[in-house]
Amino acid sequence: MSDLAQIGVSGLAVMGRNLARNLARNGFSVALHNRTSAKTKSLVAEHGDEGTFVPTETLEEFVAALERPRRVVIMVKAGAPTDAVIDELVPLLDEGDIVIDCGNAHYADTRRREADLRERGLHFVGAGVSGGEEGALLGPSIMPGGSKESYATLGPMFEKIAAQVDGTPCCVHVGPDGAGHFVKMVHNGIEYADMQLIAEAYDLLRDGLGATPAELAEIFAEWNSGDLSSFLIEITAEVLGHTDAATGSPFVDVVVDEAEQKGTGRWTVQTALDLGVPVTGIAEATFARALSAHPDQRAAARAALPGPSEAAQKVPAEERDAFVDDVRKALYASKVVAYAQGYDQMAAASTEYGWDIDLGAMATIWRGGCIIRARFLDRIKDAYATERPASLLVAPYFRDAVADGQQAWRRVVAHAARAGIPTPGFSSALAYYDALRADRLPAALIQGLRDYFGAHTYRRTDRDGSFHTLWATPD
Ligand code: NAP
Repeated sequence: MSDLAQIGVSGLAVMGRNLARNLARNGFSVALHNRTSAKTKSLVAEHGDEGTFVPTETLEEFVAALERPRRVVIMVKAGAPTDAVIDELVPLLDEGDIVIDCGNAHYADTRRREADLRERGLHFVGAGVSGGEEGALLGPSIMPGGSKESYATLGPMFEKIAAQVDGTPCCVHVGPDGAGHFVKMVHNGIEYADMQLIAEAYDLLRDGLGATPAELAEIFAEWNSGDLSSFLIEITAEVLGHTDAATGSPFVDVVVDEAEQKGTGRWTVQTALDLGVPVTGIAEATFARALSAHPDQRAAARAALPGPSEAAQKVPAEERDAFVDDVRKALYASKVVAYAQGYDQMAAASTEYGWDIDLGAMATIWRGGCIIRARFLDRIKDAYATERPASLLVAPYFRDAVADGQQAWRRVVAHAARAGIPTPGFSSALAYYDALRADRLPAALIQGLRDYFGAHTYRRTDRDGSFHTLWATPD
């Protein structure tokens, strides 16, 4: 065996460190590099016995330590630091080498970098990696973009270190240039929506039932054995059941209620606006975090704005079990909407950029390793197995599941409105469902208004062409 390493990882903070360890544990020799060498040294000192590591101090040494074609994973802060590393690295590489950015890059940056490196005879792979630090170590979901050629060299390694579900790796070639990072972005957007819906379910149950977080933990744990079974529901039960060691209070009650964000939800919504795809679930989730993070405005509103009586919030004792079941069904239906919208966004981008993304395969690789892993993804995989449905909502399994929960969903949204509980995720998902299935939308009136004030013209239901009405001009 050659002394040269099969793959290199530059950037050894939590993610890079664990990805390098995962590669080594799976039998690959790994060259290591970090801008500052302390992280490289500590990795070898603490985990050197897990496999073959080749620590290096400079990028020149790092590149020289790699077999050809070189496979160089960059795992540094997204944005300018990634460009800085690429700029330093590229002059040291040779034709056919592969640079893999496993950070959370914006897909447009990945498209730019891929085009640039392709011109220089190099492959650039933007690979989404999901699963946080634990996933990186034990098996993440990996979404690599880039050329087919680069995947032929890289794919077998990534498939080996990825999570495996039913013997299938959670890694597949997504498509050219930025496709992998695009899909990772939508994955994160769906994660935002999923978490918002879970949070709304919690809020409805807590207020409606007057239940303790520990009691709600049991409900979520039970839900985790059914259709909703997923990593996020599982950890919801754990977080709700957790007691704060310092105060003895439920953990969730001592946490400041202002949700932070790193930006991938925002990117998903911005991109969806450009593509003209309604991703209302992800948008509401992103805005809900933004709203929570305005404490002064919230305090002013709390003092000034009236809500319903407290009695309106309570669910009568005899209706409690039915209410819990309604919330479960509403959560499931809203979740189907959020996924349907995310899938529409991936489909639109695939057409826009000629990526030819296999949407069913995306559900397959999200079944393990990543944050949104869920039983439900098997159903999405099945929905795309034969032909692409017009919407996930009309695929037979989901159509029936949502139809089954439809009345419950309406009762829950009505209860939320009466009780003054904010449910932007549940409510907007229901509005989306009703808009999509409507015979006629009031968009016709909007067209009339546009034609009135701006002569924007309209199309008619009874003949082809574009029309303008000569509206009466004001005196
Ligand atoms: P991070 O905190 O995002 O970045 C720290 C790493 O970047 C360190 O190795 C640091 O080197 C390096 N770095 C920063 N600026 C640099 C520059 N100008 N030139 C060269 N190196 C530079 O690390 P992370 O949390 O491990 O994440 C790495 C990437 O994975 C990010 O893109 C992140 O968005 C993505 N990601 C993270 C997670 C997660 O759960 N954390 C999940 C999925 C994806 P020094 O040690 O020298 O400072």
